[in-house]
Amino acid sequence: MKYIRKSLILIITFVFLFNLTAFAATGITSPHQNGDFRGLWVATVTNIDYPTKATTNSEILKSEAIKTLDYAKNTGFNAVFLQVRPACDALYKSKYFPWSKYLTGKQGVAPDRGFDPLDFWITEAHKRGIELHAWINPYRVTKREWGEPNHDYSSLHSTNPAVKNPGWTVKHSDGNIYFNPGIPEARQLIINGVIEIVENYSVDGIHFDDYFYPDKNFDDKETYKKYNTTGKSLDDWRRDNVNTLVRDVYNAIKSRKSNIRFGISPFGIWANKDSHPSGSDTKGLQSYYSHYADSLYWINNEIIDYILPQIYWNIGYSIADYKKLAVWWENAVKGTNVDLYIGHAAYKAENPDPKSPWYGAAEIERQLLLNETSKIIKGSVFFNYNVMAKSAALTNTVKTVFDRRDGKLPKVAVRISRPASDITTSMTSFYLNGESDPALPLYLNGKLVENRSSKGYFGVLVPLSVGKNTFTFTQAGSSDTCTITRTASSGYEKMSGVEIPSSSTFPQSQEYRMPGEKITLTCQAPAGSTVSVKLNGKTYSMKQISGPTNPSGLYKATYSVEYTMPSFSGTPRIINLGAPVYTVNYKGTVKTKSAPANIGVIMKGAPYYAEMLYDVVDTYNAPVTGNGAAYELYKGMVDSVTGMTGNYARLSSGQWVFKSRVKIYNLASPSIPVVKSTAYTVGMDNDVFELTMTSLAAAIVSYDGENVVLKVSAPASAALPKLPSNSLISSVKYKTSIYDSEYVLTKKDGAIIEGYYIEKTNTGIKLVLKRKPKVQSLAEPLKGVTIMLDAGHGGSESGAIGPLGARFAEKDINLALSFKLKKELESKGANVLMTRTDDSYISLADRLTVSRNARPDMFISLHANSMPDNVDISKISGFSVFYREVLSKPAAQLVYDGVIKEHGKNKHGVNKKNFYVTRNTWAPSFLIESDFVPNPTVFEWLTNDAEQAKLAKTISAAIVKYYTQ
Ligand SMILES: [Zn+2]
Repeated sequence: MKYIRKSLILIITFVFLFNLTAFAATGITSPHQNGDFRGLWVATVTNIDYPTKATTNSEILKSEAIKTLDYAKNTGFNAVFLQVRPACDALYKSKYFPWSKYLTGKQGVAPDRGFDPLDFWITEAHKRGIELHAWINPYRVTKREWGEPNHDYSSLHSTNPAVKNPGWTVKHSDGNIYFNPGIPEARQLIINGVIEIVENYSVDGIHFDDYFYPDKNFDDKETYKKYNTTGKSLDDWRRDNVNTLVRDVYNAIKSRKSNIRFGISPFGIWANKDSHPSGSDTKGLQSYYSHYADSLYWINNEIIDYILPQIYWNIGYSIADYKKLAVWWENAVKGTNVDLYIGHAAYKAENPDPKSPWYGAAEIERQLLLNETSKIIKGSVFFNYNVMAKSAALTNTVKTVFDRRDGKLPKVAVRISRPASDITTSMTSFYLNGESDPALPLYLNGKLVENRSSKGYFGVLVPLSVGKNTFTFTQAGSSDTCTITRTASSGYEKMSGVEIPSSSTFPQSQEYRMPGEKITLTCQAPAGSTVSVKLNGKTYSMKQISGPTNPSGLYKATYSVEYTMPSFSGTPRIINLGAPVYTVNYKGTVKTKSAPANIGVIMKGAPYYAEMLYDVVDTYNAPVTGNGAAYELYKGMVDSVTGMTGNYARLSSGQWVFKSRVKIYNLASPSIPVVKSTAYTVGMDNDVFELTMTSLAAAIVSYDGENVVLKVSAPASAALPKLPSNSLISSVKYKTSIYDSEYVLTKKDGAIIEGYYIEKTNTGIKLVLKRKPKVQSLAEPLKGVTIMLDAGHGGSESGAIGPLGARFAEKDINLALSFKLKKELESKGANVLMTRTDDSYISLADRLTVSRNARPDMFISLHANSMPDNVDISKISGFSVFYREVLSKPAAQLVYDGVIKEHGKNKHGVNKKNFYVTRNTWAPSFLIESDFVPNPTVFEWLTNDAEQAKLAKTISAAIVKYYTQ
């Protein structure tokens, strides 16, 4: 007894398990459980998919089934909807419905050898781990084809229930016969048909498509009269008939086998919002009004397991936008137990018009990728098998999406980020950057790429041949290619004839220099020529300094000669030497060319002046900008001009300014401002050295850590100030000439000057010397300290580009670090200002301006580094800090030492460099290069939140140390 019971339990358990999880045997989770239902509709009506031609031959019927299921399996589908009742018939042994004519060619004729297609499909589908859903068209009795006369009962088999009960049907205006959904007996027939399948076959589901009432003109007046006992409108009554059928079918299934799923694939639009407040933003046919199919009722009453709207339109389609409808259906199922799958119009793909959204298979891919962004859409079903199988593009597209989801393809697509696009360069090698799936090997032109970072970032230096170089990274099914064209070494430029191009002659604009200054006269002419230049009555022969030395033909070459400006005596004035005239003689052919501008001598003290037109005018040590600006002059300041070249004018201090930033003018006689008096005061935060002048003269100041040197373009006639005992400086000395003066303020031993700058006053200028803020509270050591953080780059200027390209560039790294540092500094009591708080472009000048206006106690620019494109940056890493002013070095050094110690970075030093944003003289200012963005492993560190938070802590600690030590 005991033994038998045990066996029974085993048998019951086995049956139970097998029924509930047909997939347990294959080891596959059922698709509706894993949330990735991938279905394929196999239509039998009019032999759309199966069988391709009606036949009683069971071998052919079997082999076509196998072919379809193999295709489904190989493409990655996990469910097939087989249409087993296309039109009041059956593709299985039924006691209610005759055998389908689409199966065997004649209604009521069975396939040979007792073959049961549904049974076979179920067995073969389950062998392949595929669910088999029995698809039923409930109401359709006949399906009229093109050219056929209207259908009559005579075309049907005598056992057809429509023939036996014509009163249950309606002959519709479309030439077809339908069951009348309002007749209870007709509904019961449909339910009985479902029960028959559920009880006799191990199907995974019962499925209805979008055909309910064919349209509004359905002739059911008599039925309405007879059965509308509660006074419903015709529309509501029809919907009620459909809802009743859906509910009864659902209950019939669930009361027998609760694991069998029931779902419906309605037309994609329930109702337009113009017709119904709950409708979608669409303007198409409405299943609620035309088919009397109320999907929302089925969903809200949970009388279906899933809804599968046929959203057969493209994304962006103005009448019925796929995206809008997908969202509408998501909202429809939200909060219910009804799953949402989407029906896709695979049959619309491969449109031959390249302008069509349905050109190729791209629209289907777009829809699948869009579905992946949804947490609610749990699957896709494609109509139909035949168009899918016939199209390699569709099959590959869908298979690729499925394979990637299954982890058979890289999770991360291979992507080259550097160069951002195909480029042309003269470099002989190039550093390629990008990302890949770390779990899979990566190949560059077929060769394994080593040394990727743990996240799959790569950086590879590749040699370039002259011409086109193609680099293809591949990884499983994913690849990316870039082309770099290397230009041939330029060679020599040809000339079309013997000439001196006017644009090559010097000067192109008025040149002024002081007596004794050397300038270079230059022009271009054919290589191998004899070239000379005549200026101020004298002729000078010129030397070829570029181009071929033994040319066979006309090649461009540059010629030059150094010229010393002549001296003149007498009252300071300007003397015009005229324009240089260049002469070339190439094998007897002689040409001359006069430069388009003159050269003049300007004597010191000549009454020639420049007035600053802008709030801030930058000055340069030489007439070039490459080394950065040296000093600032302010609006209204006046200095005499001592030279002019190109776009630059030189001032008496020797500094150059852009001509466009100043007003240059002549006076009949000299006008020289004078320093009338000086004063020195001591304040809480600053010491101030003030100069009163007769008019506003240009002044520049520098500090070398010992002496503050103030140069003023005005002679001094004033006594020196008396220094308060608590001043920052120990002495002021001055020297003066008839044109200018210089004050030297020597710092007291042990005193700290944290900044210095000139400001205009109503009567002249003042030199401000900044004192170091005093720590007020050790709990909040930075209380009262204002720190400005400057996240480098932003907006259109991405800064250094690494493995993720513009998707995570230096600008993003800098901004992220600046926020972390802000938080740290604020926790120590600091007042933190930022030059940018979002991804916007801010010019370097604007960054400096906000600092100048705010006068923070410290300015920190945050950057991450890079290297030229022809360097193997995968081998370069390290931390560095840059400063310009000596007074900035102690803070810069503490930050550097802290980071090197805490983070073990390679040492790239504390370096002096005139960066735009390190030019601030009013407070310690430095620029951090946290590490090299294009280095794959470094990039992981730079983009690691925890590591960057730690870096911010380290920098903050160093700043606290600076103020507390
Ligand atoms: Zn940068």
